[in-house]
Amino acid sequence: MNPFTFARAMDARDAVQRGALEGSRYLGGGTNLVDLMRETIERPVQLVDVSGLSHTIEERADGSLLVGAATKNTALAEHRAVRERFPLLARAIVSGASGQIRNMATVAGNILQRTRCSYFYDHAAALCNKRNPGEGCDAIEGVHRMHAVLGASSACIATHPSDMCVALAALDALVHLQGPDGPRQVAFNDFHLLPGDHPERETVLRPGELITAIELPALAMAANSTYRKVRDRASYAFALVSVAAALEVEDGVVKDVRVALGGVAHKPWRARSAEQMLLGQPATAAYVEAAARAEMADARPLRDNAFKVPLAERAIVAVLGQLATVRT
Ligand code: SF4
Repeated sequence: MNPFTFARAMDARDAVQRGALEGSRYLGGGTNLVDLMRETIERPVQLVDVSGLSHTIEERADGSLLVGAATKNTALAEHRAVRERFPLLARAIVSGASGQIRNMATVAGNILQRTRCSYFYDHAAALCNKRNPGEGCDAIEGVHRMHAVLGASSACIATHPSDMCVALAALDALVHLQGPDGPRQVAFNDFHLLPGDHPERETVLRPGELITAIELPALAMAANSTYRKVRDRASYAFALVSVAAALEVEDGVVKDVRVALGGVAHKPWRARSAEQMLLGQPATAAYVEAAARAEMADARPLRDNAFKVPLAERAIVAVLGQLATVRT
């Protein structure tokens, strides 16, 4: 681990002032950043501890929730309003990592966690464009069973590892930011980037910007929602494919639907093609299967991860079938 200085932020403004120092990184629970520092993949010159900033979950009169960025994953998953009104989010969080890690990890840290591509971590032997832009990607011809099938590029095929973020994508969350130029908000679905030619750029965060909160807009139909994670073992494993979905059916017709996928792309993947195909259509297996196929039609699997395409299709069908059964 390289030497660094440590400062504890008093509030968001103080954090942003301290974060202006080039090479600074904000520290939440440290469950990913400290691992990366140990491996010398991250080499901050200063850590600004923001874990003592906002932990509050504010229930607003319009039905939305404002979740402080330093809220622990466990606290968010256990919150009554989340369990009752956004069950897909509670289920996504508890399906990620171990209980000990969820007790430490913050909401903002979860959003900013980095890929678990093994070549990204292997700085001694592997080429990785995300770690060293322009040097190549050993995963493309290597072991890529866990890698992306949607939205990848010739520079990077990594996936985003978060479960929580898949639910936030389905819920059209908003990311509240504070930076040197003041506050701003970014739609969650615009926050993470696809790799393109610059996989080292993972979000739209500007230098020194801090995530201060996540907003969950009111969404009554999210009470009928769930999250399903398909993985190699029952716990403490990243998703091969995951689905976060909410469904509203009226008189047998799809009135509203939200679907997002995890484990398939460099960012949480909002399944807009499937959603558009289903809106206003009968909530039957045939329509759902057609929508799932349409969503995965642009998939570009590699040698070892083609199984993800039918797996994602079947997971979408299973989750929406479950939600349709629950509500109708
Ligand atoms: Fe690096 Fe991305 Fe290639 Fe993995 S897939 S080795 S993170 S460039």
